Amino acid sequence: MIPLEEAQTYVLAGCERLPSRFVGVAEGRGLVLAQEVVADQSVPPFANTAMDGFALRAHDVAAASPDAPVVLRVVGTLAAGTAPTRPVDGGEAIRIMTGAPMPPGADAVVMVELTDLADDEATVAVQAAVPPGNHVRHPGEDIEPGQTVFEPGEELSAGHLGVLASLGIDRVSAHAAPRVGVMSTGDELIDGPQPLAPGQIRDSNRRTLLALVAEVGAEGIDLGLVPDTRDDLTAALTVAAGRCDAILTSGGVSMGAFDFVRVVLDELGEMRWMQVAIKPAKPLAFGRIGSTPVFGLPGNPVSSMVSFELFARPGLRKMMGHAEWHRPRLSAVAASDLRRHQDGKTHFARVVADVGDDGRLRVRSAGGQGSHQLAAMAHANALAVLPDGPGVTAGEPVGVMLLR
Ligand code: AMP
Ligand code: MG
Repeated sequence: MIPLEEAQTYVLAGCERLPSRFVGVAEGRGLVLAQEVVADQSVPPFANTAMDGFALRAHDVAAASPDAPVVLRVVGTLAAGTAPTRPVDGGEAIRIMTGAPMPPGADAVVMVELTDLADDEATVAVQAAVPPGNHVRHPGEDIEPGQTVFEPGEELSAGHLGVLASLGIDRVSAHAAPRVGVMSTGDELIDGPQPLAPGQIRDSNRRTLLALVAEVGAEGIDLGLVPDTRDDLTAALTVAAGRCDAILTSGGVSMGAFDFVRVVLDELGEMRWMQVAIKPAKPLAFGRIGSTPVFGLPGNPVSSMVSFELFARPGLRKMMGHAEWHRPRLSAVAASDLRRHQDGKTHFARVVADVGDDGRLRVRSAGGQGSHQLAAMAHANALAVLPDGPGVTAGEPVGVMLLR
C-alpha cells in the first residue's frame, strides 16, 4: 500500500491545466480566470445617494432638531438615472432618490423619514442635523481605477460576474471546463428498470459520477455501459481519449478483477495500478491514454465516490485552473462513537455534519459504513478522517471534509 498523499501527488502530476480562451461573461459562471482583472473605471462611477431623501448643504441644517426643524426651499427632484440640471444653493434642497447623482453644491443627504415635505412641495422641514457626506456614496468607494480586482485562479462566482458587469467587461480569459467521459464496465451491470436476471445489479456509478463531474463544474460525457470485452473496451476508450479531456471508469481495478478493463487500459495507456492506504477506495488506477488522464476508480459505489473525492475531483480542479485542489479539512466534534480497527489505512467515515448548540461543528455516523452501502453515503454531507487506530469516541475531536 502507498500513502494517500503519494497517490494524490502522482495523480495531480498527471493532470495539466487546460488552455485558456476568451469567454463571454454570460457563459462564465464556475469557470476559473486565467487573467488578472484590472479596473479601468470607478465603481460607483459618480457620487450618488444611498437613501431616498433630500440633498442639501449640511451646514444649513446644523441646528435642526425635531423641535426646531429647519425649512429649506425644494428646487427640484432627482430620480436615479437623471442628471442634475441645477446646483443646490444655500437654503435649498433637492428631493433625491437612491442611486441618483448628488447635485453640485449639496454635500449631504437627509433621509426622507427625518423630513416633512409641505403639501405644495415647495418647502421641506428638516428635523435632524447631519454631517457632511451623510448617505453619500463616493465614486470608487467599491472599486478604484487601476485596482486589481481579481487574480488568475479565482472562480467566477455570481459576485464576480456582477463586478465584471459593473466594470463593463463582457469577455474574460478563462480555463476551459474539462469534458469528462464517464464509463461503467462489468458484466454484472445492467442499465434501466427491467427486472434483474440472476447475478445482475443495476449500474449506479455512472449516474453518481456524472453528477459529481457536474458538481465540480466540468462537462460530463456519458460514455455508457460498455460490455466487458477487449474489442468493446478498446473501441470505447480510444474514442473517449480523442473526445474527452479526462476519462473516469469504474470497476475492474481491484486485485481479484476478471474484467478486461485492466488489460485494455494497459494496452492503450501508461497506467499505474495502486493500492492506497485508505478505506474505502483502496484500489486506484491512474494514467494516460495519449495525453488524456484516465482515472480507473473502484467499482464499489461508495469507493468510487470517495475515490472521486480524493483523486478525480482534485485532478479535475487542477485542470480547470483552480488554485486550491483539495477540500479543506475542518475540525469537528464526534457526536457519536466512530470506531474502527487498526489496519494501516486512513478511514473516511460517512458522516452527517451539523452545528451543535455550542456553535461547534459536530458529526455523527450517516449509517452503514460498507463500501457497497451507498444509501449512507447519499445521506452523508461529510467524510470524517479517522487515522489508523481505534477511531474516536463521542466527544472527541475529529477532522472532517465537508462534501457540501
Ligand atoms: P470491481 O471493482 O469490478 O471488482 O467491482 C467491485 C464491486 O462493485 C462489485 O460488487 C461490482 O458489482 C460493483 N460495481 C462495479 N461497477 C459498478 C457500477 N457501475 N454500479 C454499481 N456497482 C458496481
Ligand atoms: Mg468488476
